[in-house]
Amino acid sequence: MGLSKYSIGIGDRFGHQGKAQLDALITAGKQGIEITPVWNKSYREHKTIGSLPTDTRITADRAVQSMNWTKLYFIDADHISLKTVDGFLHFSDFFTMDVADEIGKPVAAVKIREFIQFCERFTRPFKITGIDEEIAVDHSVVGKRANQYLAGVLEAKKIYQHIMAQRPTPFVLELSIDETEYPQLPIDLFFILAAAAWCRLPLDTIAPKFTGRFNKGVDYVGDIEQFAREFEKDVLVVKFAIQEFGLPSNLKLSVHSGSDKFSIYPIIRKVLKKYNVGVHLKTAGTTWLEEVIGIASVGGDGLILAKEIYSQAYHRKDELMKPYATVLDIDPDRLPVPGVVNAWKSDEFVNSLRHIQSERLYNPDFRQLLHVGYKIAVEMGLDYQNALVLYEEYVAPNVTENIYSRHIVPLFIA
Ligand SMILES: [Zn+2]
Repeated sequence: MGLSKYSIGIGDRFGHQGKAQLDALITAGKQGIEITPVWNKSYREHKTIGSLPTDTRITADRAVQSMNWTKLYFIDADHISLKTVDGFLHFSDFFTMDVADEIGKPVAAVKIREFIQFCERFTRPFKITGIDEEIAVDHSVVGKRANQYLAGVLEAKKIYQHIMAQRPTPFVLELSIDETEYPQLPIDLFFILAAAAWCRLPLDTIAPKFTGRFNKGVDYVGDIEQFAREFEKDVLVVKFAIQEFGLPSNLKLSVHSGSDKFSIYPIIRKVLKKYNVGVHLKTAGTTWLEEVIGIASVGGDGLILAKEIYSQAYHRKDELMKPYATVLDIDPDRLPVPGVVNAWKSDEFVNSLRHIQSERLYNPDFRQLLHVGYKIAVEMGLDYQNALVLYEEYVAPNVTENIYSRHIVPLFIA
């Protein structure tokens, strides 16, 4: 339901930047590009921040009102499971069901048989419109895929029914399997969508794990050519699955980007244009880094506060990095020691942190550590919150500019 062709997940850790974020989408609208904003926040993030799903709803509603946004917008209960969904039920209208933990779990043999029967015509070599090579499968290949993915899809069905039972109003439904150990190839995606059709899961978006590394807040690391081939095939698989299985016609890929995958944005844009399809881009709360950039740019007390956040993050790096270990590549030797950072002027701090790769001072290790260092700002409590209010006029333009120029333009406009 409801999502326009293009949509963007804009995390906002501290819930202060709704207006500045929306400003970027309003600018895109003036260029004729309609993008649906989705405020996403996961259970884990709420726990770290000490916020509640109702807070995200309030922030988004307020931003929408004060900016006179008249189009659709959503609140994403990001990466929820059956265990964690309840707190979100009355405040979210977009549910990202994370079933990564169920991948590869055993399923009753009768279910496997039923599924194979359902996709009988795809248990021998077949072709997907637009893809040259034949998909070479037989019963055993499909059986293997079923063993790998059915438990996950059946779990998603349970979550979906649980939400349905308590929410009479429509919502967006996303299936996420991006936090699995291995990427899903286009053929995996095909059978996952087949399984969704088989158990009547009306998906709006699906978030596979793509090839390559999607580290938090920094660029893509991996084989760009291979990504390009796979992404194009994934788009064709989704189109084909919609036709073959009668899945919702607006079903589209969701890219859990971890933010800032600048080197693959042009590839994604070209594929979307070529096939006239949309995408949901989920970002990872790098708005918080724009807050630190804005605060540091003020100099004086602002710069001191930003340095203090880094200094504490540096001393607690192991603890902060631990929950994100699989999506960070930080080389401790490349992290400047706090003594050095404390001597920096505003522009040195800002240019080391802001994600402009051509900038001589840009330091991806420094950036990644601060990205996961939001817990420090949480612990600072009012010292940090007050700075956001006090320096709003410095922070907001950074937030807007980041979303518009570094994400929306290369991905949707260029
Ligand atoms: Zn994800």
